[in-house]
Amino acid sequence: MRSRAYFGRAMALINDNFLKLKAGYLFPEIARRVTAFQQENPEKAARLIRCGIGDVTEALPAASIQAMHEGVDELANRASFKGYGPEQGYAFLREAIAENAYAGLAISADEIFISDGSKCDTGNILDIFGKGNKIAITDPVYPVYVDTNVMAGNTGDADAFGAYEGLVYLKCDAANGFVAPPPAEKVDLVYLCFPNNPTGAVATRAQLEAWVAYALANDTVILFDSAYEAFVQDASVPRSIYEIEGAHRCAIEFRSFSKHGGFTGVRCAYTVIPKTVTGAAGNGERVALHQLWSRRHSTKFNGASYPVQKAAAALFSEEGKAQVAELIKHYMGNASLLREACLAAGLPVFGGVNAPYVWVGCPDGKSSWEMFDLMLHEVQVVITPGSGFGAAGEGWFRISAFNSRANVEEVCRRIGTLLG
Ligand SMILES: *Cc1c(COP(=O)(O)O)cnc(C)c1O
Repeated sequence: MRSRAYFGRAMALINDNFLKLKAGYLFPEIARRVTAFQQENPEKAARLIRCGIGDVTEALPAASIQAMHEGVDELANRASFKGYGPEQGYAFLREAIAENAYAGLAISADEIFISDGSKCDTGNILDIFGKGNKIAITDPVYPVYVDTNVMAGNTGDADAFGAYEGLVYLKCDAANGFVAPPPAEKVDLVYLCFPNNPTGAVATRAQLEAWVAYALANDTVILFDSAYEAFVQDASVPRSIYEIEGAHRCAIEFRSFSKHGGFTGVRCAYTVIPKTVTGAAGNGERVALHQLWSRRHSTKFNGASYPVQKAAAALFSEEGKAQVAELIKHYMGNASLLREACLAAGLPVFGGVNAPYVWVGCPDGKSSWEMFDLMLHEVQVVITPGSGFGAAGEGWFRISAFNSRANVEEVCRRIGTLLG
């Protein structure tokens, strides 16, 4: 399909889909405005507190540090040295995950694929799906799901509001508690993320049951991102899609140690594909997605690092679990303080109860970016404008609970002075 002038061309053809991508707008624009503010107000620059980016701030759990050191020491001796490991991940880690994260949920170790991150996994999964699928995402959304579909050629161009032709946008708003119900139309793939980034919303068991029933009725594959499952406090809120009956036939789950164990800089995650989840081949035959991902993973990936997998497995030891619980308690204490401060200022607040993100309505009809500028200029607090996650995020902003307690307490005081 050489639609452009082929003869005489002097260059390699590119993937034109990349040209449809809107410029990486959100975080570069935040950085630009913060830098400009600092240059114009050098005397206030030191007061800046960043609650914008969703990155953890606290030290790794001691159990994982110790295990990582031990892993490194093993590599220092020829007798215990390890080269390439299994592409799917070491059995000790896959078994620890199956026994701990999926206890009682009928997920076996060989249905778990270890990787170096969920961001890559949620993007790479498109390799095993064909062209022409109808794909649904929520709005607001984690931008990776959208941009990877654009790159894969699953969309048309973006409109003036940044919505891509061909995607089905499921609107999340205050009326539905930022949890979209299944659409009336049939879609082939749907991305769900609970607890949600950016809104902090969680889906109830009944809401997830509705999604699984929809998926089974429509032969939809659910791509379930539960990167934030460790933050769920409420025992009635499902942490895994596999807590819902029937999900083993229609759902892939992505999890990460990034937020669970504070591993954003260490890099370790996993994808779960039960052997009973299928898709259709061109001839109509049902094919297990597990075998396709297994082939894909072992062809394009050579395994996560050994000391890192040791460190991840240590999060499931008794000490590791207790230390993770402390870490989560710290961040959720922050989330609770931020929630209270915004509620006290009379703002609409979602999230922050089972998730490290607090999602707040802007006061006085302000737009997300107007609120960003107000917080930056008046009280030197950096937040994330909700509109950066999709059109439905306009009028909202996200505050991250990933911070020190002292910083969060100071942010709460400043919200009080600005809006109280
Ligand atoms: C942080 C995050 C992840 C984890 O990504 P890693 O690549 O494993 O660090 C996945 N999904 C969402 C929505 C996230 O916010």
